[in-house]
Amino acid sequence: MNQSCLFCRIVRGEIPTPLIYEDEICIAFNDINPQAPVHALIIPRDHITSLAHARPQDGATLGQLMLVAARIAEDKGIAASGYRTVINTGADGGQSVFHLHVHVLGGRAFGWGPG
Ligand code: 5GP
Ligand code: ZN
Repeated sequence: MNQSCLFCRIVRGEIPTPLIYEDEICIAFNDINPQAPVHALIIPRDHITSLAHARPQDGATLGQLMLVAARIAEDKGIAASGYRTVINTGADGGQSVFHLHVHVLGGRAFGWGPG
């Protein structure tokens, strides 16, 4: 846990945030500034600063984040139409919250590349 980390504070319940999924490894909630009709974030309960900070022993957690992304897409009704999963890493990656998170975006078609 990281005392000042925004997403650690959400994990601890210090910032009231409705959860759309939770298990012993991760939680998920809707993004506060959605970029698509569906925009969810999946985060590990344990603080991992970014994908670049993940260690070999975090492999199961990383796998669970992706499996939960697919489950949320199913639950939100966007699995059939398709969706985007994104992990922004570091400054050039556009990461703004330094607690690893997977974005799940859907409900509209996206272009490529990332801009
Ligand atoms: P990043 O830019 O680091 O990949 O994504 C961080 C995301 O967290 C952004 O999409 C931003 O809108 C979202 N976010 C930042 N603060 C909060 C918050 O307090 N609550 C929620 N639900 N989302 C947040
Ligand atoms: Zn954190």
